[in-house]
Amino acid sequence: MKLYSTNNPNHVVSLREAVLASLPPDNGLYMPTKLPPLPDTFFSALPRFSFAELSFEVARHLLGDDIPGTELLQIVSEAINFPAPTVQLDEKTHVLELFHGPTLAFKDFGARFMARVMSYFNRHADRHLTILVATSGDTGGAVAAGFYKTPGIDVVILYPKGKVSGLQEKQLTTLGENITALEVSGSFDDCQRLVKRAFLDPDLRARMRLSSANSINIARLIPQSFYYFEAWKQVFDGIPPVFVTPSGNFGNITAGLLAQKLGLPVRRFVAANNANDVFKTYLETGDYKPRPSIPTISNAMDVGAPSNFARILALFGSTWNIVRQHMQAFAFDDEATKRAIETAFDRFKYVFDPHGAVGFLAREAYRRGSPADTAIILETAHPAKFLDVIPPRIARNVIIPERLASLRTKTKVATPISAHFDELKQFLLYR
Ligand SMILES: *Cc1c(COP(=O)(O)O)cnc(C)c1O
Repeated sequence: MKLYSTNNPNHVVSLREAVLASLPPDNGLYMPTKLPPLPDTFFSALPRFSFAELSFEVARHLLGDDIPGTELLQIVSEAINFPAPTVQLDEKTHVLELFHGPTLAFKDFGARFMARVMSYFNRHADRHLTILVATSGDTGGAVAAGFYKTPGIDVVILYPKGKVSGLQEKQLTTLGENITALEVSGSFDDCQRLVKRAFLDPDLRARMRLSSANSINIARLIPQSFYYFEAWKQVFDGIPPVFVTPSGNFGNITAGLLAQKLGLPVRRFVAANNANDVFKTYLETGDYKPRPSIPTISNAMDVGAPSNFARILALFGSTWNIVRQHMQAFAFDDEATKRAIETAFDRFKYVFDPHGAVGFLAREAYRRGSPADTAIILETAHPAKFLDVIPPRIARNVIIPERLASLRTKTKVATPISAHFDELKQFLLYR
C-alpha cells in the first residue's frame, strides 16, 4: 500500500512511514494512492464471514504485502475482538452499536488497530517508541487502552488539570504499565502546544523516538471502514442502505467513504452534526469556512474545522457537485438532541447517547426527503458515559457496564507538571 499527501500527490510513502510519522511534512494528510474494489467473491462470501474475518479480508486487500498475512491476521483478530451489533428500530432503521469496546466508544477500533500496527512496524527498533498525546477527554482514554501493554511502546498522555470529567480522568490515569499520565496546570491548548514543541525539540529528537497517536493517522481510519461492511452484512436486503454518521472531525464518515470506494454498495452518507455545522454550510453553498468550535452536549463533535475535510475532497476530486451527490448533512441544537433522546426512548425503548441522538434526528430528517431508503445510524458511544445529560426517567434504564463502574474505585496516578516546556522535557528524559 502506498500513500500520498493531500497537499502534494508526488509525495508518496510506504504504510510504515505514514503510520510512524502520522502527518506528511507538508501538513497535508496521507491518503491511499489506490482504492481498488474488492472482488465479487468477497461480497458473495460476506454473509458467512465473522466480523474479524471480513476485517482481515478488507485489511489484506488494502494493505497488500505491507504486513505479512500471519501477522496481519493476528493484529486484526486482537484489535477487532468485540462485536458491532445492529439493533432494528423500525422497518427501515437500524442502529449500529460501536460502543462495545474497552472504553465504550467507537474510537477503540481505531486505537487498538493503530497500536498493533505501530508495534509491528517498530519491532526491530532497538529503542522504545514514545507516543505523546494531548487529550481533552475521550481520545486519551481510547489511546491509553489501545496501547496498554503494547511491546516496545510507551504512551505519555497530557491532559488539562480539572478540565476532563471524573470518569475520563480515571480512564487516563488508572492503567499503569506503559501508560503515563501528566496532569498539566493549564488548558487543552497548552497540552497541545507542549506536544508540538516536543516534536520540534532537536535534543529530544536526538535522544528518544517520538510519535503521535493523533486522530488523523491513517492507521486509525482503516479499521473504521471494517464495521461499515459488518453493518451491511447484518442488514442488507438487496437495496444499498444509507449510513448516518454523527460527525466531528469527519474521520468516521471518511472511513465509510473508503469502504464505498472499496466496493461497498451505499446509497448515501449522511453527516449528523450539532451546532458545529461548517460541513452542512459547505454542502449548501460550496464555501468551506472553518470557525471556532461551539460547546454542546455532544461534545466529541464540537469541531469547527474538521480535520478530515481534506480527505473527503481528495476522494471526490475536490468537486463540490460530486461531494453533494454522495453526502448530505443535517444539524441540530442541544434542545432538539435532548428531545430526540426522549422520543427514541418513548417510541422504541432505545436509549441513545447524545451523539447517537443527533444521528437519530438526522435519520428522521433524511426520511422526510427519501422515505423508501433503509438507514443505519452509527451509535458512537455508550449512553452510560453521558448519564448527566440523559433525563433521569430514561437514565434509570441504562445498564452501566462493569468496566465503567469499576473505574470509580480505582486510584488515580498522575504526575503534575506546569505548562512550561522544560518541565515536560526533563520528565521525558529522566523519568
Ligand atoms: C470522536 C467522536 C465522534 C466524532 O467522530 P469523528 O470521526 O471525529 O467525526 C462522535 N461521537 C463520539 C462519541 C466520539 O467520541
